[in-house]
Amino acid sequence: MTGLLEARNISKVFGAGLVHKTQTIALRDFTFSISGETPSVTAIVGESGSGKTTLVRLLLGLIAPTSGEILYRGQDLRHLPAQQRRAYLRDVQAIFQDPFEVFNPFYKVDHVLESPIRNFGLARTRQQRRDLMAEALSTVGLQPAETLGRYPHQLSGGQRQRIMVARALLLRPRLIIADEPVSMVDASLRATILNSLLKLNQEFGISLVYITHDLTTAYQISEDIIVLYRGAVAEAGDVQLVVPQPEHPYTKLLVGSIPLADPDAPWQGERALGAPTGLAPNGDSYCAFHDRCPYAMPVCVEQTPSLFRTAPHRASACFLHGDAPILPNDRIDEVFGGGRPAPDAATPFVAES
Ligand code: SF4
Repeated sequence: MTGLLEARNISKVFGAGLVHKTQTIALRDFTFSISGETPSVTAIVGESGSGKTTLVRLLLGLIAPTSGEILYRGQDLRHLPAQQRRAYLRDVQAIFQDPFEVFNPFYKVDHVLESPIRNFGLARTRQQRRDLMAEALSTVGLQPAETLGRYPHQLSGGQRQRIMVARALLLRPRLIIADEPVSMVDASLRATILNSLLKLNQEFGISLVYITHDLTTAYQISEDIIVLYRGAVAEAGDVQLVVPQPEHPYTKLLVGSIPLADPDAPWQGERALGAPTGLAPNGDSYCAFHDRCPYAMPVCVEQTPSLFRTAPHRASACFLHGDAPILPNDRIDEVFGGGRPAPDAATPFVAES
């Protein structure tokens, strides 16, 4: 079956070429697909430098992979005929971290909503256009009368971000790629925005790829999770398995770094795992986490770990799980459920102490 959007064995190397001597591998042999048939919510989690931003830019066609290909309905994103390109631009929408950058301060916020309506011919009359904008704003919990006609600076960051969610909804896309959509808004508004996104998934059948550094919100809204570390998949699977019981030492570190609600409980942070072993690689093959990992063994600095399928719905790229069968990178989708009911967004995640 041809997926809506597929990343097939993509790698992205920056600084490649004759001029640049040093190369940075931002993403390494990454495979992932969104079927578009069953609305799914997949979180892609990692810290700065994990490859998240590069992945977003690749999926949006803003940069080309160094190797591998991005396919939209089976066709390479770089060579889409005009009609398919237009369909892609409608089917795949993005919401970015900083909504203020998207707004032109000299235009009323109406402008960002009117643009897609005009570009895609969604309304014939001014009234139809107003009705579409009002409907989209109401769906994301904004009052049209209090929103339209205002300038960006007259609205809060949370309101601006919800306008971007409404803008995406106008086009009735099949997929929204939300890149750190709540990292720049107050904690009190995060749930509102995440609930708006979940509503699009559950009521409009729109799949979500939720890019974040925040495991807590990933756990709250997603069904499946991919944990990236230095451009490669560290762990993947059902979020209900991976976050409460992480297997990869990096995921354990991330979970251990979540501040606990209990003021008497010690925050574990970077110390959660203990001291690294100090093993050093000799060649190009090694586990990227070896220099932070207290469990590193000689094999960890001699070979690059494959993904090991430790359970039907999870996999870990760690030699600690080397007894489990290898899951080839291009079959990573097998550990995902592909559209199960999301957990209640109001359920707080409490890390195990
Ligand atoms: Fe640690 Fe080795 Fe697992 Fe890497 S492969 S996370 S170094 S135990």
